[in-house]
Amino acid sequence: MPVRLPFRPRRDAYPPDLWTKCPGCAEMLFNKQLDKTLRVCPHCSHHFRISAKARIEQLVDPGSFVERDADLTPVDALGFVDLKTYPDRLMAAQLATGLRDAAVWGLAAMAGKPISMCVMDFGFIGGSMGSVVGEKVARAGEAALAERIPLLIVSSSGGARMQEGTYSLMQLVKTMSVVERVKAARVPFISVMTDPTTGGVFASFAVVGDVNLAEPNALIRFAGDRVSAGTIGEELPPGYQRAEFWFSHGFVDRIVPRARLRDEIISLLGFLIAPLNGHSEPPTGPTSRSRSFLNALTGARSGDGNGDSRASETGQTRGEATNG
Ligand SMILES: [Zn+2]
Repeated sequence: MPVRLPFRPRRDAYPPDLWTKCPGCAEMLFNKQLDKTLRVCPHCSHHFRISAKARIEQLVDPGSFVERDADLTPVDALGFVDLKTYPDRLMAAQLATGLRDAAVWGLAAMAGKPISMCVMDFGFIGGSMGSVVGEKVARAGEAALAERIPLLIVSSSGGARMQEGTYSLMQLVKTMSVVERVKAARVPFISVMTDPTTGGVFASFAVVGDVNLAEPNALIRFAGDRVSAGTIGEELPPGYQRAEFWFSHGFVDRIVPRARLRDEIISLLGFLIAPLNGHSEPPTGPTSRSRSFLNALTGARSGDGNGDSRASETGQTRGEATNG
């Protein structure tokens, strides 16, 4: 029989499933309200991390996503044990997320146009890239090549999966070899970097899209401060690991708030996909067309790609728990 306490719970004890505290502005946010704003804080525009499922729902035409290779499951090839065994970690992550591994790929449509897409889920062992994640990225690329439809990859990853050792590092080569073939075949590739995009994912496919988009204030970097500073032998400028810094240095083409992400990708696809009838086909290739389109957009909306300064200042310590 449950014990009944003679007093009411404290008023500041918010039920965790009802409220979320914003790490950007410390405001308590009602979860239902937060879902309506696509999990972006209405006060400081902090972009919360979202699951692969939620991301797909936000981006593609309703009901159009058909998942492929949902049952692709990682194996413990090395018999890896840290504080727990790798199979135990996998099982815990699978129970928590309902996924087999940290990426979901499939075919979908955006404004009626078919795409091949792969979305990473940070909730599954930090979105780390092991053999299954690499394989799904590669298969999404292969499908884009075979069907000649655009490739969309949404990254959210701490990097390589330590528990798969060298197998994990091999995914950098595997994913990049497919992406290079996609690009050589002039099939459009849009990369979306969300918080965080670091380590081996940053070092492979995430920053080589024909168009690289990022969410405001997303953590984007290869390694942590100490490793980066130690490697190049000098102090790094403040904020170097945020989307806005990469944007100002040309690595990121656009910083797009989540509410505009679907529309922005759709308009990019309109520029990147050559029309089927030859009459209105522009003379230049997909990449140069996208660049001039981006320049036009940047000119028209100058200043709106910088995100929210408050979120930038307060968000510096978020997302440190990455996997390498
Ligand atoms: Zn906030």
